[in-house]
Amino acid sequence: KLSIRNVEKTFPSRNNTAPTRALMPTSLEVADNDFITILGPSGCGKSTLLRIVAGLETPSAGEVLLEGKAVSGPGPDRGMVFQSYTLFPWLTVRDNVCFGLRERGLPRAEQLAIADRFLAQVGLKGFENHHPAQLSGGMQQRTALARALANDPKMLLLDEPFGALDHQTRELMQELLLGIWEADRKTVMFVTHDIDEAIFMASRVVVMSARPGRIKCDIPIDLPHPRSYKVK
Ligand code: ATP
Ligand code: MG
Repeated sequence: KLSIRNVEKTFPSRNNTAPTRALMPTSLEVADNDFITILGPSGCGKSTLLRIVAGLETPSAGEVLLEGKAVSGPGPDRGMVFQSYTLFPWLTVRDNVCFGLRERGLPRAEQLAIADRFLAQVGLKGFENHHPAQLSGGMQQRTALARALANDPKMLLLDEPFGALDHQTRELMQELLLGIWEADRKTVMFVTHDIDEAIFMASRVVVMSARPGRIKCDIPIDLPHPRSYKVK
């Protein structure tokens, strides 16, 4: 369970610009198997909220609790995927997925077994030794998803992960992610600008408004989803 309690964020002034009030005090209770999609205009604080939950940004006030423990930095319990592929270009696909596992000091053989299992799960069997530049955008995003999943995080934090993909690849990725969520029941927070995607994917849609950012409404969505999904 994730509790976001009165979290607010003001970015300090820089080069004589005024400080930016990015988030008004915001609270959100996220249950373990919630799939929350977050919609809202550009600049309403969606990424800021996600980055605070990820521990990549410190809130100006308030706190984030995961399983009752305060979040104070990034950790393997939260996997992130961003819109632009943030793979390490000098590493193979397999080593990209191994990255966090190596940091945690897992034996190499175990790292490889885990990496290959998740790469197979996202349909990248046979591409383990490729470098990111040799992959399509969708394949790079699948690698990023495999890397996020490899640490077996409680939560997946996804910031417009499919925004740069063509329609068909996007639908495949949506189904892939929903299949994984169905199987593992991870907590997901998923930012998107696509209303269809937000409604199709979610068990809850949270809509934010801007200047300054705040949550406008929080809508439960009936499951099962209207489109059938299966990991192929
Ligand atoms: P988009 O849909 O365009 O990605 P968003 O909802 O993700 O927008 P945020 O990136 O969270 O919006 O930004 C919210 C506000 O905070 C904006 O006004 C932005 O200019 C400001 N902001 C975000 N990051 C920083 C930063 N590092 N320094 C200063 N201001 C920032
Ligand atoms: Mg953003």
